[in-house]
Amino acid sequence: MELIDTHTHLDFADFDSDRREVLAHSRTLGVQRMVVLGVYQQNWQRLWDLVQADEGLFAAFGLHPVYLDEHRPADLDELGDWLTRLHGHRQLCAVGEIGLDYFLEQLDRERQQSLFEAQLKLAVGSSCRRCCMYGAATRL
Ligand SMILES: [Zn+2]
Repeated sequence: MELIDTHTHLDFADFDSDRREVLAHSRTLGVQRMVVLGVYQQNWQRLWDLVQADEGLFAAFGLHPVYLDEHRPADLDELGDWLTRLHGHRQLCAVGEIGLDYFLEQLDRERQQSLFEAQLKLAVGSSCRRCCMYGAATRL
């Protein structure tokens, strides 16, 4: 059975020391493909570089609500640029990780909603219309 992990953060520095081993071990367990989810603008290039180095990895770009205070309005424009630039690329599979996080009460709900809706619009306008929100990916 081939498994797809639709929610990873393999681009995070936490994996710098053993990323290769994690990937190899996951594949021995049957996980052949993985989606690496972007959470803020600053990690998108790193994420894309990682994905480009392994044909079993797939990218999603997004602005996670947990980082609400770090996101700039220009990040939404840049997200649109990334989606446009990579439109049709087999390793671009989703807009994510996006959503609403009401677990953390300090996160402004209206701003989260606005950010979420803006990203949904970008997803609808891109090739990622079938796959968004918290790592759900369907184009693999
Ligand atoms: Zn996540």
